[in-house]
Amino acid sequence: MNGLIFDIKEFSIRDGEGIRTTVFFKGCPLRCAWCHNPEGLSPTPELWADSARCRECGLCRKPCEHEDCKPFGRCLHICPQNLVRQVGKYYTPHELAARLRRQKPMFDAMGGGVTLSGGEPLLQADFCAELLGELGGDIHKTLETSGYASPRDFARIIHLCDFVIMDIKLMDDDAHRRLTGVSNEQILSNARYLIESGVEHLFRTPLIPGITDTQENLQAIAAFIGSEPIELLPYNDLAPAKYAAVGRTYSLEIDPLKKETPDLSLFQNATLRK
Ligand code: SF4
Ligand code: SF4
Repeated sequence: MNGLIFDIKEFSIRDGEGIRTTVFFKGCPLRCAWCHNPEGLSPTPELWADSARCRECGLCRKPCEHEDCKPFGRCLHICPQNLVRQVGKYYTPHELAARLRRQKPMFDAMGGGVTLSGGEPLLQADFCAELLGELGGDIHKTLETSGYASPRDFARIIHLCDFVIMDIKLMDDDAHRRLTGVSNEQILSNARYLIESGVEHLFRTPLIPGITDTQENLQAIAAFIGSEPIELLPYNDLAPAKYAAVGRTYSLEIDPLKKETPDLSLFQNATLRK
């Protein structure tokens, strides 16, 4: 069995406790209008071409004989500025676990571990289960998830992890469907399960101006989670820059005047990421 991974980021301080290595799974069933990882959406390998910096020299468009270039119709190895590459690499659970386990001394020294993120790791739940098993019981494991998964996959993977970070984006189901492409019904049901599961966890809400950061939405989230811990994430306005590189268009228009300072007093146990 293979898993498709689009990035492995070492020394991450944002994806759980301590200094971590974050593994980004390629493929997500959601289409959040504000997504800041457009290269993680498609569940297949794809071409990344940084057209903003391209000098149109044409070298990468000439025919080449490399097997790995054939699916993309561009040479991945000739650009003098390294502007063209494949996003998405297949690993077996054993290969990836062996690579991650080499960092155990660093995890031990820094109180960190491995975080599975994406995209949506639970879209590759069988691979996650094998990888988590191969990592063994002596490495701290965190899952970052949208929560959009079957109850069976959600339950079996969270119980293989030490910590779960799960998004709650929008409480209104119509708005959730319109802005993420899916209903929030399954997500909220999995969130309830997580609360009862005994697995240590943190909810997260990205603060998208005029969309998720409204008083109405935050109040509804606060009522849903009660005293559960939640982290509010400021809007990442670097997101649009990556879209063109994978042939997508960022169509969300953010009105800076709609940016709210979230009212933390709505929540019993909230922090705002700086
Ligand atoms: S080789 Fe690099 S600079 Fe030349 S056309 Fe291709 S991407 Fe652009
Ligand atoms: S769940 Fe995350 S990765 Fe998936 S579309 Fe939304 S923001 Fe992007």
